[in-house]
Amino acid sequence: MAKKLNNTCMNEFDPDALDEVIAVRNIINSIKSSIKREIVPISRSLGRVVANDIRSTLDIPSFKNSAMDGYAVNIKMLKTFEYILIQKGISLAGKPYNKKLKDNGTVKVMTGSVIPDNSDAVIMKEMVNIKGKKIFFPKNIKKNQNIRMIGEDIKKKSIIIKKGEIINHSHLGILSSCGIKNISVIVKPIVSFFSTGDELISINNKLKKGMIYDSNRYILHGLLERLPVVIKDMGVVKDNEKALIKKLEVCCQKSDIIITTGGVSVGDADYIKSALAKLGKIDFWKIAIKPGRPLAYGKIKKSYFFGLPGNPVSAVVTFQLFVKAAINKLMDVKERKNIMINAITKDNLSKKKGRVEYKRGYLMQDKNINYVMSSGLQGSNILSSLAKANCYIRLDVNTSKVNKGDEVTVLPFDILI
Ligand code: AMP
Ligand code: MG
Repeated sequence: MAKKLNNTCMNEFDPDALDEVIAVRNIINSIKSSIKREIVPISRSLGRVVANDIRSTLDIPSFKNSAMDGYAVNIKMLKTFEYILIQKGISLAGKPYNKKLKDNGTVKVMTGSVIPDNSDAVIMKEMVNIKGKKIFFPKNIKKNQNIRMIGEDIKKKSIIIKKGEIINHSHLGILSSCGIKNISVIVKPIVSFFSTGDELISINNKLKKGMIYDSNRYILHGLLERLPVVIKDMGVVKDNEKALIKKLEVCCQKSDIIITTGGVSVGDADYIKSALAKLGKIDFWKIAIKPGRPLAYGKIKKSYFFGLPGNPVSAVVTFQLFVKAAINKLMDVKERKNIMINAITKDNLSKKKGRVEYKRGYLMQDKNINYVMSSGLQGSNILSSLAKANCYIRLDVNTSKVNKGDEVTVLPFDILI
């Protein structure tokens, strides 16, 4: 008779495993946000977290200007002179015509140029007929047409970027439009990471039998580079308690967050556990997700510690779900909710009840219908299917097998850049 397994990480179903949402909440609640700020020029602020609400110093636009190349008119005058006016001047972008409209006058205006104070419409140049000095206008003119109003984009003193937002390319445009040179941002937290495993060697060395190149450090580097953090690559540590303690002692002197990969599954968890127990307070969680079930989380001195699984795909998923949430909390980032969409699966998908599964998928559209297919083998060691994927297919705790044609929930990797 098959021996009954205990609730270890080796089990497929574990009623004691922690729900992913609860795990994220526990992590977020245990982290104290940093209040350290620094002033940076806006040219160096892309991707940084704004430390306090930023208000506009100007109305944008700050003057009434033309949305088209055409003619500025005063509708009353136009009616008086039976829709025939004479050009009295020209207003170019940056070179305004400073007088008012009078009598039967109109002013030729370019996009972005100041329009005369008493004009109340701009007519596109394609809509007029010119005969000698006379300009013939159409009759269906609406008040304020083709005029950009003062403050229609941004009102003076209004909040343009909220505390906790991450500066993107549009923010850079808004800040510069307001003439703001420097802003206050949250100081980048220091994130150190290293890989653990006797089998790991660096890509500079020749591969020997039974050894593998360390890929997790490169993946983590890639994930961290997109975030406003200082990255410290601390190399590889052997499966050895002393070496691990030594490295963690170095890391925790300067890091806000320490990430390791490997050594947290049942096989070798004990030595990691004992090493960490000597340095700080660490919990080993079994989380009801696949990939990425085991996770060590805790604190070593002032550093938050994440021990991610060694399998590369598990390391990625646990980073995205848990470490990212921690980094965001540390800087009080205003998080945008992940957009989930529905799609019809083109493949049968295997699924065990009792855990959330993130399948690597390829999302596509055909005649406005979303379809998704598996991007390849789904083992936690299979990086090729992750590289081919453009989404995760998120299968809920209670879902069992999914059949081709069923509707599933999909998390696109990048809805917009
Ligand atoms: P572990 O979590 O240490 O039991 O490792 C689980 C699997 O992930 C094993 O097949 C390891 O060889 C592999 N692994 C661990 N660390 C890395 C790494 N840094 N790069 C690539 N594979 C790794
Ligand atoms: Mg290992």
